[in-house]
Amino acid sequence: MDVATLGDGRFGPDPQAVYRRWDEFRAFVAAADLDSAEGVPLDEDRLGPPVPQPRQVFAVGLNHRDHADESCSEVPAEPVVFTKFPACLTGPRATVVLPPGGHVDWEVEPVAVIGREAYQMAVEEAWSRVAGLTLGQDISERITQMAATPAQFALGKSFPGFGPIGPWVVTPSEFDDPDDLTLDCRLNGEEVQKGRTRDMIFTVPELIHRLSRVTPLLPGDLVFTGTPAGVGMGRSPQRWLADGAALVGSVTGIGELRQRFVAA
Ligand code: ZN
Repeated sequence: MDVATLGDGRFGPDPQAVYRRWDEFRAFVAAADLDSAEGVPLDEDRLGPPVPQPRQVFAVGLNHRDHADESCSEVPAEPVVFTKFPACLTGPRATVVLPPGGHVDWEVEPVAVIGREAYQMAVEEAWSRVAGLTLGQDISERITQMAATPAQFALGKSFPGFGPIGPWVVTPSEFDDPDDLTLDCRLNGEEVQKGRTRDMIFTVPELIHRLSRVTPLLPGDLVFTGTPAGVGMGRSPQRWLADGAALVGSVTGIGELRQRFVAA
């Protein structure tokens, strides 16, 4: 449905604007006559990111034990937090240019989208602040990431196209259990990652609780929640995305991300 048409202009065509009025938007959708409204044809190849311009993007490293192990890192006692600069966000079907000389890696992970401001949230209240979950690839260029001490997570993970998200934002109530999703990642048809979000060290509510002790999480913000084992950096020998690589990430109840990588 074209929300701008359906609502007679009550909501504009910018997806980002919906999150600032999330409760109002949910009530509007619940009351809308979707059966008799006219839909628009959907071309998934043309989809942009469902959250195009978040004010803040949080990302969490080493949030699965098996990924901490393969990274030769301790299991963290506090979330390891960094950002992906928002200019790296793209839709679910984008082509990504490989930075010359880089070691570009994959990290499939669910991404929480904030729907109501969350500041100093109790764990038990945190899901109520989430508009929904989407899927992300936290694509990472490891040479840039490791070029400084401590590591430059934010820079290494923010080249153009390094933040594909989508294809949809799915409300938490749509899942049988939003704390237990199965995700996987395939490279050129070979399964390279498989994990479950119930194995996360810090759950989505726990992350919101801890992040919001410091800063308000704002409507339309993103939280990349961390990847399971199987990234290229943790392999022996290490493995990187090459010209022509086809990467497919998927998660139960949300859908697929498909990236094609090309040399600069
Ligand atoms: Zn990550």
